[in-house]
Amino acid sequence: MALPTEIDPRKLALQGNLLEGTVNIVDLPRLESSVSSICEPLKASIQFELDESRAKVAHGKAVVLVETVCQRCLDGVKVEVEAVFSVQVIWSEDHLNRVAANYEPWLVVDKLANLNELLEDEILLALPLVNYHEEGGCTGDTFQDEVRAIGDEVVSDNPFNVLLQLKK
Ligand SMILES: [Zn+2]
Repeated sequence: MALPTEIDPRKLALQGNLLEGTVNIVDLPRLESSVSSICEPLKASIQFELDESRAKVAHGKAVVLVETVCQRCLDGVKVEVEAVFSVQVIWSEDHLNRVAANYEPWLVVDKLANLNELLEDEILLALPLVNYHEEGGCTGDTFQDEVRAIGDEVVSDNPFNVLLQLKK
């Protein structure tokens, strides 16, 4: 089920609500322009609550599979980006000093906040700057292995070795 775009985070925190669902690819334009493609809708769950000091906070997790470019072989590589975050809702930047150290400030100046933007921000922060295929899955690796194998062969089986040794 799709997550609501516009939410009232303070009300959700007072009610202790849990939101779970997906964000469509078209609603993640900044992420889409940062990667080759977004493979499937973003999945997220966000628990809203009041913390011990009755601050309105949310603890969330967002996961999305994207395709980007492997910096070793320059082929496409699929990367699962996961963001785990804790945010505290504040009305204005004057309240930044009220945000506890274990929370990121979430500036919500109106009653409603855009949940898609928050999730997209968190994913963009978690997106690695450079990406690689896993060991063994990269053609860049294969190329290096082949070079190494050919190198070994030269030393052991190559008949020209004999010539080389004769020359010495
Ligand atoms: Zn690669």
